[in-house]
Amino acid sequence: MSDAPPARHIARRGLLVILSSPSGAGKSTLSRLLLERDRSLSLSISVTTRPRRNSEVDGVHYHFCTARDFERMRERGDLLEWAEVHGNRYGTPRDFVDQELAEGRDVLFDIDWQGADQIRTTLASDVVSIFVLPPSGDELRFRLVRRAEDDEATILRRLGNAREELGHYTDYDYVVVNDALQDALDGVEAILTAERLRRRRLTGVDGFVTGIVEAL
Ligand code: 5GP
Repeated sequence: MSDAPPARHIARRGLLVILSSPSGAGKSTLSRLLLERDRSLSLSISVTTRPRRNSEVDGVHYHFCTARDFERMRERGDLLEWAEVHGNRYGTPRDFVDQELAEGRDVLFDIDWQGADQIRTTLASDVVSIFVLPPSGDELRFRLVRRAEDDEATILRRLGNAREELGHYTDYDYVVVNDALQDALDGVEAILTAERLRRRRLTGVDGFVTGIVEAL
């Protein structure tokens, strides 16, 4: 019998999984379900200057901060990427990502196209980007209004911004239409399964194959 470790233990590089979509396409629900089902995936919690919604918890959904604190982090280089979205600033703390990748976990990012662009520029070969589309324009509007946590001006602004965000779907590796949530979730999981098996990311595959050959 071979002494080689089971194939699922082949060491590999961590993935940076980016999910983007216009507000209201259901990306947050999709992320939450994905994280519940996939224990090797950690969510990058962004810092933001946006006011907290009633349903949100500081440190769980976002790290809420003042514009001044945000500036300080940005100037110190603490943010892996940052952008202004819907009139507020959002950014990804660098330390958390470095730490998770070093510990062999994959990191999930719920960020907009501007942030995706920046991460692709610095860490291209480890990025898998997925654009989540709503099934239709009417459904997107319906979901934004139904959320009812934002005032009318905010909803209108987000609908306007949806057009801009949608214009960037061509920058992404994959597209998933979130019509039936379970189907969308299956799609994202299939993407992750395949991307985790990419040979160039399997840093331990040489040793694994050598082990097989030596045992023959
Ligand atoms: P919301 O205010 O609805 O939570 O998020 C608004 C938009 O900001 C969403 O498209 C979300 O993906 C994006 N976003 C959240 N965190 C970040 C971040 O750290 N960086 C960037 N670039 N976008 C973010």
